[in-house]
Amino acid sequence: MVESSRRTDESLARAHALASAALAEAPAGLLTDFDGTLSPIVTNPASAALVDGAAGALSSLVERLAVVAIVTGRAPLDARRMTGVSGLLIAGNHGTEWLEPDADEPVAAPEASSIRDRLAGVLAGLPPLSGVTVEHKGVSATVHYRGAPDPLLALPRILAALGDAETHGIQLRTGRMSVELRPVGLGDKGSATAAIIERFGLRGVVMMGDDVTDLDMFRVVTDLRVSGRIRATIIGVGGSSGEVPASMVEAADVVLADPAQAAELLVALGRR
Ligand SMILES: [Mg+2]
Repeated sequence: MVESSRRTDESLARAHALASAALAEAPAGLLTDFDGTLSPIVTNPASAALVDGAAGALSSLVERLAVVAIVTGRAPLDARRMTGVSGLLIAGNHGTEWLEPDADEPVAAPEASSIRDRLAGVLAGLPPLSGVTVEHKGVSATVHYRGAPDPLLALPRILAALGDAETHGIQLRTGRMSVELRPVGLGDKGSATAAIIERFGLRGVVMMGDDVTDLDMFRVVTDLRVSGRIRATIIGVGGSSGEVPASMVEAADVVLADPAQAAELLVALGRR
């Protein structure tokens, strides 16, 4: 117990040192996932909320940095409502819908309407399963099975029911007790990350995420870092949950225990 809390304190200190160095470059930005990163994973995804302390820290960082962006699988307006912080750029639906800080409505990629129809067709193949919920977000969807009586049995049934999704141009990806359905070729969190870095001419980047779809962001940042274009720190979140994929731990510079610790980091970074 003592050993493990010492380790997590060390991770936080290391994350703070690395992230401070990245944000010392100008212009600098924070790009972060929401669920599981800034918000504890909950059984009902609609009731997710920003972890205590994060809102004030994000507001401070909005003031200080060139951009603070939430790059999320959620619909952009949901992400804005759940964060409740003004001044955030939101790249929602896995980077296929953008909500500017001052805009009332998100802007979707032009191909979005045909995707909506294809997605509805694929989801129609999913039979009602106990404890399984579908979050339909227009140009992407998430099937959650955390509430299923036996999640291990639910997953193959979901995948079998959605089996021909790829022939409709919809890619399936399994996440933390969830299956993501996303259009192929319309963008992902990685292309959204590249677009944000380019648009703001970022030289310093702090990136935070907790799941496999965040690896697309991590890869973009790693490539730009290797090429010397940016100074960046990649922070994985959720080490204490036991659900974080090994590939993510490998891709991150440091892994924090949970969203509460991620908030502690943001609070420290938000201080002048
Ligand atoms: Mg996440």
